[in-house]
Amino acid sequence: MGTKPMEHVLSGFEIKYCSLEEILDSVLIPHFCNPFDSEGKDPSPHYLEGFWFPDESMKRVYIFVKTSSNANRQIFTKIHELFHFCQSLDIAFVKLLEKIITESTLPSDLVRRLIERSANKATAMYLIPEEHLRKKYKETRDARDLAKFYGVSQKTLEIRLEECGIMNSPHNPLDTL
Ligand SMILES: [Zn+2]
Repeated sequence: MGTKPMEHVLSGFEIKYCSLEEILDSVLIPHFCNPFDSEGKDPSPHYLEGFWFPDESMKRVYIFVKTSSNANRQIFTKIHELFHFCQSLDIAFVKLLEKIITESTLPSDLVRRLIERSANKATAMYLIPEEHLRKKYKETRDARDLAKFYGVSQKTLEIRLEECGIMNSPHNPLDTL
């Protein structure tokens, strides 16, 4: 996606947020953001947290979010789905993905997991910017407090601390600051 902030990538597009529950039984869900499909089983749409699709003009994108999930989960899902839309706008990314799907012998499930992982990673980077996290960590070294501050799960926060080299593992802080 390059280094442009997501807001710049999305400027000019109309984004509509909708309730996932309202349409669960009425449409064929076209996207695959689902944690329960790792064994290749056809997942129940009732486990979905969200999905996205553009209208025909590609000027409006619908982001469906499971509104019965907690508020923080919904925020994470919205950003995650928006990153998928950004991925779809990145021609180089799409071409590379098509090449992997058509030419590689990688299992399709693995390719899907990589896409999901990249969207999750981008979402965590967006919600917990590294420099900001470094400053906040100096104020409070409590992962639970920081998770609450950023509105993410403690696990997501701990992974981010590790990725940024602030802690080398959740239970063994490396005070590199
Ligand atoms: Zn996804």
